[in-house]
Amino acid sequence: MGGVDPKKTIQLNTTNAICPIGEITGKKNIGESKIPVLSCEGACIRGEIARLAANIILRKEPYARGCHGELITVPESSIATWIKTAEKVVLIDGCFLRCHGRLFENIIDREKLIQFDALSHYNRYTEIFDYDDVPEVERKEVAQSVANWVIESLNSNVAEHSFVSCETKDEKSSGCCG
Ligand code: SF4
Repeated sequence: MGGVDPKKTIQLNTTNAICPIGEITGKKNIGESKIPVLSCEGACIRGEIARLAANIILRKEPYARGCHGELITVPESSIATWIKTAEKVVLIDGCFLRCHGRLFENIIDREKLIQFDALSHYNRYTEIFDYDDVPEVERKEVAQSVANWVIESLNSNVAEHSFVSCETKDEKSSGCCG
């Protein structure tokens, strides 16, 4: 059977084209030393909750929402420059597979990348794929809980770990998983 060996390097068709509002936002975030928050972009309920949680956190200082599309495929953009030069980068991945964390570890300095496994916090919906099989109100409540957990972790010693999961000993002992 043909196809691409996933362990081989993937060639990206990068571009020098720019998104005007992305340039304005990236430069503003660099100037204000914002910390990028990126999330899983998976199509399932786990990706949706990670994305919603990231969108809650961006309303708090000093965080702002990062775009991994530009990070990966528009490497000279201001958004990509901001994310690559930020003091640290927060990533909320959807689940233990860490699809985005494994990508970013090859782009962003590992010591700057703080990864969270959102599913390990709420530990529900493992039999569900489509995000709208969970009512919107419930999705928002769970996302808020994930966002609170991430913020509390970032404000504590837990955030010194490069990968934060409720499977870790420190967090179990602190009762973060409820
Ligand atoms: S981290 Fe989990 S939820 Fe996100 S894309 Fe990967 S498998 Fe899907």
